[in-house]
Amino acid sequence: MGFCALLLVILWIFQTVFLSDMYKMIRKIEIERGITLVEKNINSPKLEDVLYDLELNKEIIVRPTRNFIPPARPVADLHNRRQPESITKEKVFVLADGSKISLTFHAMVTPVDATVSTLQMQLLIITGIILLLATLLAMIISKHISNPIEQINQSAKVLAKGNYEIEFEGKGFLEIRELADTLNTTALELSKVEGMRRELMSNISHDLRTPLAFIYSYAEMMHDFPHEVTSEQSQIIMDEAKRLTSLVNDVLDISSFETGITKLNKTNYNLTESIRKTINRFKELTKKEGYHLQFTYDEEIYIYADEVKITQAFYNILVNAITYSGQDKTIIMRQILKGNCVRIEVVDHGDGISQDDLPYIWDRYYKVDQKHKRALMGTGLGLSIVKKMIDIHGGDYGVESEVGKGSVFWFQLELE
Ligand code: ADP
Repeated sequence: MGFCALLLVILWIFQTVFLSDMYKMIRKIEIERGITLVEKNINSPKLEDVLYDLELNKEIIVRPTRNFIPPARPVADLHNRRQPESITKEKVFVLADGSKISLTFHAMVTPVDATVSTLQMQLLIITGIILLLATLLAMIISKHISNPIEQINQSAKVLAKGNYEIEFEGKGFLEIRELADTLNTTALELSKVEGMRRELMSNISHDLRTPLAFIYSYAEMMHDFPHEVTSEQSQIIMDEAKRLTSLVNDVLDISSFETGITKLNKTNYNLTESIRKTINRFKELTKKEGYHLQFTYDEEIYIYADEVKITQAFYNILVNAITYSGQDKTIIMRQILKGNCVRIEVVDHGDGISQDDLPYIWDRYYKVDQKHKRALMGTGLGLSIVKKMIDIHGGDYGVESEVGKGSVFWFQLELE
């Protein structure tokens, strides 16, 4: 409405207030153009045509100044109380024979009062029509754009308060419907993450409490009966402390990703050796329990990457393979050179992962076995850390798994 009003005001000012001044200005410009035209053609046979054209089309009369008599007032003007104005201009031209001639250019300026009142009348009608159309347009726009956006805004406020059940309704234009769809998906995803977060919190608090209780009761026992301390008791304390450390580390890693403070510290290092070392660390740990860890590779490979992060990705996959390995307790690791890429595979013969779970295992807090089993204690963060580590290196990762047969987890990095 404001925009229409502005247009109308501009139209009113130009068509009524400035009309007369503009008209006079245009007449002056026309006389100047006429003078230039005559000057150009003063010695040409076309002069007659030019003068005829000026008189007929521009209503500019050109006469020699000596004989100039102002033209008679038109009959209509006789009844007009106001004297009709005119613009006259004299100009001396030099002819071909060297003589000079003075010509007078005379342009009649018809009073515009009648025109102005006609225009005012028209503008009044136009104003009415435009205001009506503007009102209609405003109503349509508000129905199809403002109202749905306002509704979406209200729902978004409800979502912001943590009510993920809210439904976004998008009516009207395609963009608004798409916005509503996007927000519905967002609400759904948020509710999933929120659910996982709650579950993780309850798991973590349970997992923290149990080892702490163990540590406290064994330490208390050792304190009360210092002569009866056995190595099993101190081993339990050490195991539980280790479990706590890995839990805290996972949570710290994830939160450092979320705050975006992870930086890559790339160096050129021997990937093969680094993997061999990690496996050896596990070999010591798992020897007693009868695990077989095999590593096959053709050559030592150097890559330009962040060793700590790549080692951690491999470590997480290996821990999973050990945790979920089958009866044979065998884990096979391979380093394969594929064109410009090096691929690391970790194979286990455990239970495998069902096709339904496969797409989600890389998500944060996702655990296939939702029931809480201490033996299979995990945070559901391990693979999401792997994913992040490989992603920031621009690498690729994946898994092939079959229920009952086992899984092959792999990641590959480009050699530079
Ligand atoms: P968690 O800490 O629970 O192991 P991860 O993110 O490392 O979390 O793994 C997510 C889920 O993927 C695990 O809960 C487990 O069910 C499944 N998983 C991971 N690796 C294997 C594997 N080698 N064999 C079978 N299942 C696996």
